[in-house]
Parts: sequence; structure tokens; C-alpha cells
Amino acid sequence: MTENRTPIVPADSVAIATAAKQLCEGSLVAFPTETVYGLGADATNGESVARVFAAKQRPQFNPLIVHVKDTAAAEAAARFNDTARKLADAFWPGPLTLVLPRLDDRISLLVSAGLDTLAVRVPGHPVAQELLAETGVPVAAPSANMAGCISPTAAGHVVFSLPGADTGGPGMILDGGPCTVGIESTVVDLSAAAPILLRPGGITTEDIEAVIGPLAQPSAPNSEVPKSPGMQDRHYAPVLPIRLDATNARPGEAFLGFGPKAPDDAINLSLTADLSEAAANLFSMIRTLDGLPFEAIAVMTVPDQGLGRAINDRLRRAAQPLPTKPKDVCS
Ligand code: AMP
Ligand code: MG
Repeated sequence: MTENRTPIVPADSVAIATAAKQLCEGSLVAFPTETVYGLGADATNGESVARVFAAKQRPQFNPLIVHVKDTAAAEAAARFNDTARKLADAFWPGPLTLVLPRLDDRISLLVSAGLDTLAVRVPGHPVAQELLAETGVPVAAPSANMAGCISPTAAGHVVFSLPGADTGGPGMILDGGPCTVGIESTVVDLSAAAPILLRPGGITTEDIEAVIGPLAQPSAPNSEVPKSPGMQDRHYAPVLPIRLDATNARPGEAFLGFGPKAPDDAINLSLTADLSEAAANLFSMIRTLDGLPFEAIAVMTVPDQGLGRAINDRLRRAAQPLPTKPKDVCS
């Protein structure tokens, strides 16, 4: 990695306003929350969200947590139920993330990696609060570190862990001092019949159970209770079969192109072969084609480098036949 010259700026009102402007213009900004420092992107801008995955060099599209300024903004982004309201009243702003059905279509599907659910949180850190109020948009923000490294709990850690602004990293790092909680938020999935603890974190299980009763615990892979959403079958899987490395559409197939060599009439992940643009389009284009009267979706080869690795990981999993696919069940 080249030397990171991203400015670390004390988070006064001027710096926060500058950061908000950068976010709204599509740049990434690292900012403090009470849990860890986050790498923020405008959640409604698919290409900015794609740049988060690229900067972190995540090999997969794990869903990201969307940060909003208050419960009202969270209720505009995701569908709340009574349990969600109780938890929001008890613990927000604070280190608790709720997974709920998606509501706001402006939020990029890449944020939730194609899932029908959205993870939302109202952070309590005053800098995060002011930044979210200034931007007026939901901000997707995973921890501001390279995939596989430990989460940053001070502004200086971010510089060591991420590329600089000139090589795809954040345009600036807001310095709000050390994080007071220092571990990630607790993630509770409220999108199924019973609440499930997806990740232990800053709010204890006991405190949550005191408000809403028992939580189902995460358990072994392939069990009924999902552990990590990226690995689960409940991750959005197209109904239509997917054929990879296609060069043209066979009869009955929809065609998803990539780059300038794709046929002119194909839906194209990116005409200019830009992997960020392709990542931003991936889930919404597959959903569109999946809803049309075709028998299969043929997808052109996407280069297996940078964000292309995460795109191919997702495509390969989507291409695996699932015995429980709706088409098999209904036929
Ligand atoms: P991080 O990237 O460190 O901020 O972690 C985000 C956490 O939230 C991960 O554990 C994700 O699996 C979880 N998460 C985010 N969105 C969802 C979702 N829609 N469904 C389930 N878990 C989610
Ligand atoms: Mg993380």
C-alpha cells in the first residue's frame, strides 16, 4: 500500500460540514462512533457503497450497517414492529443495530448485499450525530479497517489500516478522540418471527432480554438460526438459473453483460468495465432480470480482481442450484 496522506481533521463544526459535503458528493469519509471508527458512504449512492467494499478489500459483499440520525429516520428506512420500537426507545442512540425489512428504495441494494432486510443504527457519538444531521442521508458505515484486521478505535488507526484518498480510501478522517465503547454494536435480527442475536456487542444480551424477553442465539452454520448473513441461503437467490462466463444469450436466456464487448442490446453491469459501477448495479440488475419472463440469466465474465472478486463470489453462489428454490417447489 502507498503511504496514506489522508488528512486527519479535528472534528469541529467546520470539519463536520466539509465531511458531510464530501459524503453527499460521493466520497468516503471516516468518522468516529462510540463503538469504532466507521468508513462512511452515502447509502443511497451505489457507487460510493461499492467503493467501501473496494477500500476494505472485502472478498465478499457482506451487508453493511446504515447509520441514521434518529429513530424517525430509521423508521423511514426500515419497517419497524413493536419489538423494534421498544429496543429503539431503550437503547438509541447507542451501540445497538436492528435488522428489519427494507423500506426506503433509495438505499442501494448493495448496502444489504441483495437482502430484503436492512441493518440500521442510531449512533450516540456527538460527531456521528452532527455528521448525520448535516448530510440528511442514511450513511452506510462498516468499521474503517481492511477486511480481516481489527477495528479502529482512534483516528490514527484508520490511516494505518486503509488506503489513502488518492488510492480509493476516505477523503478525510474526522478525529473525535478514542471510542468510548470500543467494540462493535450488538446486532439483533427482528425480521423473522423471533428476535435473533446475530452479533454480541456494545449492549449486553441481558440488557436486551430485560426489555424484549429471550433472544435466540447464533448457532452453528446450516442450522435454523442464521449466523452470518453472507453465508446463508436466505441471502437473495434468484429464481432463474444463472449461467456464468457466457459470451452470448441462448434462446430463452436474459443476458447480463459487462464492458464494451457486450452486445448493444444487453443490460450491462458497466459499459466501461468499471468494477465499482458493476458492483453498484449487480443486485438491482439481477432482480430486474429475475422478474422478467426468461428461463435463465446468462452472465458475461467479470475479471476476478479487486471488486470483481466479490462480484464473482456473489454470482457463483447465485449460480448454485438450490433445491428449495421457489421454481422447484412450485413446479
Ligand atoms: P461491520 O461491517 O463490522 O459494521 O458489521 C456489520 C454487521 O452487521 C455484520 O455482522 C453483518 O453480518 C450484520 N448485518 C448487516 N446488515 C445485515 C442484514 N441485512 N441482515 C443481517 N445482518 C446484517
Ligand atoms: Mg468490521
